[in-house]
Amino acid sequence: MKPNSQINEGSEMKLEDLTLNVKQIQDDVLEEILTHNAKTEYLQRFLTETFDKELFKKNVPVVTYEDMKPDIERVVNGESSDVISARPITGFLLSSGTSGGAQKMMPWNNKYLDNLTFIYDLRMDVISKHVKGVEEGKGMMFLFTKQESITPSGLPARVATSSYFKSDYFKSRPSNWYYTYTSPDEVILCANNTESLYCHLLCGLVQRDEVVRMGSIFASVMVRAIKVLENSWEELCSNIRSGHLSKWVTDLGCQSSVALVLGGPRPELADTIETICNQESWKGIVNKLWPNTKYIETVVTGSMGQYVSTLNYYCNDLPLVSTTYGSSETTFGINLDPLCKPEDVSYTFMPNMSYFEFIPMDGDKNDVVDLDDVKLGCTYEPVVTNFAGLYRMRVGDIVLVTGFYNNAPQFKFVRRENVVLSIDADKTNEEDLFKAVRQASRVLESSGLTLSDFSSYADTSAFPGHYVVYLEIKSKDGEKRKKNQLELNEEALSKCCLVMEDSLDNVYKRCRFKDGSIGPLEVRVVRQGTFDSLEDFFIRQGASTGQYKTPRCIKSGKALQVMEACVVGRFFST
Ligand code: AMP
Repeated sequence: MKPNSQINEGSEMKLEDLTLNVKQIQDDVLEEILTHNAKTEYLQRFLTETFDKELFKKNVPVVTYEDMKPDIERVVNGESSDVISARPITGFLLSSGTSGGAQKMMPWNNKYLDNLTFIYDLRMDVISKHVKGVEEGKGMMFLFTKQESITPSGLPARVATSSYFKSDYFKSRPSNWYYTYTSPDEVILCANNTESLYCHLLCGLVQRDEVVRMGSIFASVMVRAIKVLENSWEELCSNIRSGHLSKWVTDLGCQSSVALVLGGPRPELADTIETICNQESWKGIVNKLWPNTKYIETVVTGSMGQYVSTLNYYCNDLPLVSTTYGSSETTFGINLDPLCKPEDVSYTFMPNMSYFEFIPMDGDKNDVVDLDDVKLGCTYEPVVTNFAGLYRMRVGDIVLVTGFYNNAPQFKFVRRENVVLSIDADKTNEEDLFKAVRQASRVLESSGLTLSDFSSYADTSAFPGHYVVYLEIKSKDGEKRKKNQLELNEEALSKCCLVMEDSLDNVYKRCRFKDGSIGPLEVRVVRQGTFDSLEDFFIRQGASTGQYKTPRCIKSGKALQVMEACVVGRFFST
């Protein structure tokens, strides 16, 4: 697509400056952080007071969250911020942490939002450069705020996106296209995420002709929104017909703001939407309901990759745009080629966000390198020193260098570092598991079935232990969609077990077939809606709708109970 002539030249220069001067900017960031925080108790343990990059690298240890946790918890529990940060810590970010277990608490201050808004502006310009006419409409964005908790020190602890929506940065955001949504702010700010999701859909349907882009932070949320639409379109239409929001939505902000959007009874609009939703097949439903949508803005990289085929089905191959790679520690970078295919997405790291270092995965792990020293084709784990009191903290992601924009490296997200399944010497990580499930998904596809979601756990209750993979599947056939019936095809499901085992690595195969220390892989088919119940469970435990990621391995006993209660069939590899 031709670049739009209206692109913001200031932002283009900003991008050029940032990506040409990576080394200088990174050195400046580190100097600023270290000079400012030289007197913190944490840095005093390792450094003398003058800024010295070499000394920093030599003396300050590369740590995990667990290593820094005691110091962070002191601030959580009421000690002064300057245990770790000279700039006052004004809150904590709850990292999603659904794969490993407990949520992490990352120290936070407004610098995080300065960085975030900087990134939002940059990516807005990148998108308008690539998507023609995107400024002439509204975004139907499934954005959520989650209720915060208060730490013993009286500071809010919340997920990253909530910290933005609750801030003045959001309230007084610029009034340009990128920040113009179909939903009123009250809906985004509503703490009851079931109510807000329903209202997002309702407001988006009422303004269907104005919607030019749609999205959520992670693809799982988009898929959930479509599922809710599938279950509640009749009720939504009835609201549009009558001009009244359903009574079960009790949030006062939602009630008053959505009433304004509804603007009275709209029977014709309700008829049109009903006719579209009543069609047998929901393929391309998004394009039919929102005909001016140009792209879907949602992260489909990493563990979100498994939702690509579902989204392609409902959105009839609209571009799926992954804009940003970020975490509770820092924002890393943005995708400068937004319309590329999901599998080709790379994120260009922005050197002004934090000080970044990289642990090489292929070489000496102690040989930590700078952002301007990473090599094309190599994989690394990023390490972050940020403006809120984290020093050389490992992020736990693995990224691959795929290229450079000027001097700024571009990284493809490969996987989370952690091992998810292990019985004996086998170490199956998320990527291996995804690969195996992709094979199973192909088998299902050829039998007219679609995989909706999956998870797993290592069942060691009997010897030998074995891998259990939970699959939620549905029929591809639109006719059966309504009846919600599914015949479990024994042959196909047994074959799923076989192809998954076949795709796992040699250590697994040795343990399984030679040593006999791993038993046959088991598929447990769960009934439709199980993964929604699992999400509900984690949300009740404190996870946020907007940042929720299905755990690919379940470690909590209670979450396992949720899954086990929904098992409708078991199949083993032979
Ligand atoms: P949280 O701290 O809860 O926001 O989770 C951050 C984690 O989400 C990152 O460390 C990644 O593992 C994952 N993540 C964030 N953005 C992306 C992305 N664009 N692609 C793939 N994974 C991502």
